[in-house]
Amino acid sequence: MLTYEQARQEIIDQVRKKDSPRAKVRVTVWEALGFVLAQEVKTDRDYPSFNRSTRDGYAVKAADVAAAATLRCVGEIKAGDTVREALQPGTCVQIMTGAAVPSGADAVVMIEHTQRDGDIVRFDRPARTGQNIVPRGSEARAGQTILTPGARLGYAELALAAQVGAVELQCAKKPRVAILSTGDEVALVDKTPGEFQIRNSNSVSLAAQVRIAGGEPVVLGNAADDLDELAAKIELGLNEDVLVLSGGVSMGKYDLVETALKEVGTEFYFDAVAIRPGKPAVFGMCRGVPVFGLPGNPVSTMVTFELFVAPAIDLLSGAEARPLPLLEARLGEAMQEKPGLAHFLPARVEWLDGVPVVKALKWQGSGDVAALARSNCFLVIGAERENISAGETVFVLLRKDVI
Ligand code: AMP
Ligand code: MG
Repeated sequence: MLTYEQARQEIIDQVRKKDSPRAKVRVTVWEALGFVLAQEVKTDRDYPSFNRSTRDGYAVKAADVAAAATLRCVGEIKAGDTVREALQPGTCVQIMTGAAVPSGADAVVMIEHTQRDGDIVRFDRPARTGQNIVPRGSEARAGQTILTPGARLGYAELALAAQVGAVELQCAKKPRVAILSTGDEVALVDKTPGEFQIRNSNSVSLAAQVRIAGGEPVVLGNAADDLDELAAKIELGLNEDVLVLSGGVSMGKYDLVETALKEVGTEFYFDAVAIRPGKPAVFGMCRGVPVFGLPGNPVSTMVTFELFVAPAIDLLSGAEARPLPLLEARLGEAMQEKPGLAHFLPARVEWLDGVPVVKALKWQGSGDVAALARSNCFLVIGAERENISAGETVFVLLRKDVI
């Protein structure tokens, strides 16, 4: 049985092999959050485009303030002012943060280090050449590539694109991810279920996870535990870029998903992973489409999506697979787990005296959505661990939607 790291690597290897051309869309910087860039972005000019003061103070020639000194202030420069005149030796000019430093000046002295009397300014300490000035072109040169295809567009990347005037960006079209739940007991979320039915919460959580992962969910509804119906709905799912099924992959008599996937020609790369919850997860490729059979217990579905489906969506968007958002934390309470499988337990991490401390939440097992809705992370317990003492360092997998 593969470890979860091996299973992730297998998915990454298989999905990477499939190098089909990706459709592109033009998206404005206002809408492009979470898209993956499919073009280069170059600067339109030097950044900064002038020598910029980073402080409110006085622009001086450093040589004039080699020690404590007195200079005559000859004017004022605000951010945005046009600056053409050079600073004359023996004088200074008042300058604001973000304003252009005049030629002839090579240092800005913070206002806090000066005293002013009329137009005479006293400097109480020596100035260093270049201090409090960001030189023209030091952040980027004109025509320099600052973003490359495959870059994930977060707020900083979007700000950078906006800064250089690239307000419309060529992006990879988001991969379409078909979501198919299975099970005779599964009822639509907007219908009142029968006493022994359950609502299709997995379709909702999976659609949300797909969006967060950078995909576009295509919810196909539910298939009964019936081979023909499963095969027909799987066929629909194979029209999309990825197919994710929930339920029907365990050992029960009516767990038919693997059989149905086999019938339509899926080649499997694993059909179990050494994790709890989520052990029966399967992954295969069918006609070039990555196919995931995730166990139907809601927490298993959520965990296996984060571990296995998210990296496939990354790669199909033209980005690298993002590493898992793992954080080291101090275990708040001693724990005992059966060794053999890596555990991903609903937990909360809180910062106590500046240190992340994690505690597992009480739960009723992998059907307990209520426990997961109180969590902000999964506590990760390595497969070889059995008794873990309070205070030990452990990993947590952050829930990137709530933390
Ligand atoms: P399965 O993986 O099909 O054996 O299902 C495991 C458990 O998850 C059962 O208790 C199911 O009722 C439940 N389950 C299956 N599919 C869903 C779904 N779409 N939404 C919520 N719970 C589900
Ligand atoms: Mg089932």
